[in-house]
Amino acid sequence: MNREAAVADLTQVMSKFTSYIGKRLPTDVTQKLGELREKEVNFLAKEVYESMRQNQIAAHELDRPSCQDTGVIQYFLTAGAKFPLLGELEDILRNATLGATRDGPLRHNAVETFVEKNTGTNTGSKIPWLDWEIVPDDDSVTIDVYMAGGGCTLPGAAKVLMPGQGYEGVAEFVFDVITSRGVNACPPLLVGVGVSTSAETAARLSKKAILRPVTSRHTNDSAALMEELLADGLNELGLGPQGLTGNASVMGVNIESSARHPSTIGVAVSTGCWAHRRGKIKINADLSYEVISHEGFTL
Ligand code: SF4
Repeated sequence: MNREAAVADLTQVMSKFTSYIGKRLPTDVTQKLGELREKEVNFLAKEVYESMRQNQIAAHELDRPSCQDTGVIQYFLTAGAKFPLLGELEDILRNATLGATRDGPLRHNAVETFVEKNTGTNTGSKIPWLDWEIVPDDDSVTIDVYMAGGGCTLPGAAKVLMPGQGYEGVAEFVFDVITSRGVNACPPLLVGVGVSTSAETAARLSKKAILRPVTSRHTNDSAALMEELLADGLNELGLGPQGLTGNASVMGVNIESSARHPSTIGVAVSTGCWAHRRGKIKINADLSYEVISHEGFTL
């Protein structure tokens, strides 16, 4: 395949995949919502979970997005330095966004800042947003697609704590964020927490945290325990589905961390809603691909 044909091919794959993410939740989220629905005892909450389930069935049958807010599209790339179309990926993903918006169809959500005009294409300055990690000696690329809806993005916050505030300060920050704005994000939430050195590194990690599966755990035992304790504590709030009260507030809490300056604790929170539209696809050098987030999926 020549380079031009390869670019067109990959653009089409990513366009279809992006559009698909708006219509189907990833397998881990669907399973978690099913578990929460089964365990729920509050009558109203059970009904809300059931309407979420019906919503997913309708999205599938009608081939339509599962939420009206298809969000601003973000791609998180873990790219091998030897991936043959590395230099073309930015254009490919921009054109994939245009294609998914046209063919999905996806609602237009990109408003050009300071111009205050909707571009009508879901593209704009630096949008779709691309986040890069380059892996040496690898010729594949793994792409996480995320649809950042308005409600689920609203609670997002970052702060640098004084070192003496310690992990208790981290927990307090997470609870402040979720109790003040968590209901805006259509619970049950997937809460991502970044613990790092500064505001922007923590913010980036908090978003990476909600790209991890709901049931995944931090590799450090203390951090994994903190994930569990935060989830238990947030569930005690009983936000319930759509914030209408119920057993659970969250699908889970995922923490991502980095080393930090000894005098700072950067902490940030990102939230994913019940309709947590993300997808993970691995593309090999020959452009064959594997969808990791959605069981049994083929284009
Ligand atoms: S928070 Fe999620 S489910 Fe609620 S409106 Fe926004 S994208 Fe849709």
